Amino acid sequence: MEKMLAAVFHKSENNGGKIELEEVNIPQITKSDQVLIEVKACGICGTDLKIVEGGHPATDNTILGHEFVGIVKEIGENIQDLKPGDKVVVDPNEKCGYCINCRRGLSNLCEYMVLGTTFGIFQNGGFAKFCVVPRSTIFKLPEKIDLVAASLIEPLSCAVHCHNIANVKESDNVAIIGAGPMGLIIESVIRKHPIKRLISIEIDEWRGQKALELGADFLINPDTTNVQKEIMKVTNNEGADVIIDAVGISKTFEMATNFWAPGARLICFGQDYRAEAKIKPNEIVRYQRQILGSYIGYAEDFLDAIELIANNAIEVDKLITKVIPLEKLISTGFNLMKERKCVKIITTP
Ligand SMILES: [Zn+2]
Ligand SMILES: [Zn+2]
Repeated sequence: MEKMLAAVFHKSENNGGKIELEEVNIPQITKSDQVLIEVKACGICGTDLKIVEGGHPATDNTILGHEFVGIVKEIGENIQDLKPGDKVVVDPNEKCGYCINCRRGLSNLCEYMVLGTTFGIFQNGGFAKFCVVPRSTIFKLPEKIDLVAASLIEPLSCAVHCHNIANVKESDNVAIIGAGPMGLIIESVIRKHPIKRLISIEIDEWRGQKALELGADFLINPDTTNVQKEIMKVTNNEGADVIIDAVGISKTFEMATNFWAPGARLICFGQDYRAEAKIKPNEIVRYQRQILGSYIGYAEDFLDAIELIANNAIEVDKLITKVIPLEKLISTGFNLMKERKCVKIITTP
């Protein structure tokens, strides 16, 4: 059987595990609704690091990589709308379509995903030359699209979703807490629309500079500055009307409630299941504020993300720090991620 290089996760006895680059069998189509994809690019996500460190579950012996694009190599016999050579992106979170959440239009909360089905986390993903996925997870891409840029579509779809939840208006002061890869991608989407001001709150120097480069009007370092005072100063005492918490720890949530304007929307985007926070309910009632969650995205957010990339509407060059061969996933890719001196690192098999 023909072999390919793949980054395989091996669970350790306690928590986390390690990723090994190894030769594995090239996967084959076994069901009539499946597609064999030749992977052309796959982004490294913070979740990949979390899996290794034990902060996120994953299936033992699974090929990681959930932000991937490629071309169709083979199709199952029931597929009529794709052909070999088509450019495609995969939504790694397969939806069932019939659970109560799917039927209520909340496909991002599909009950089937709770079983642990994500490609590149619980089932084989894109850190490999080939991958087999069901047709339902595939979005066809325009012929002209650049496939390395297209590897941003999955995280970008989450940012589009977040932007829609935030319902950002022209007169809003927007604050984004955290300029990690997702905070910066969300900033890129928000910057496509007219707003009053954009304030980035970030501790790390490199990331803060990146936030300014992508269009933040102000950068605040919470380690050295009183965030509340500074936001009041730069917004003429208005406060922030939209706050995106792209970190999701207790500290950032409570920080946000120090400078939220009357009528503000606080969007919880970053995830940490250990976080707990104190809040005065009357601060929400009296000033009609809203606290909203934003979790992955809907199919329509994928469509919007595809258009943003296909139309060069996002500054992809500023968001992709490096493109590396899959062989360097661990030596270069993971190390750059740990040093935090990167936005997205893309691997090519
Ligand atoms: Zn991800
Ligand atoms: Zn469902």
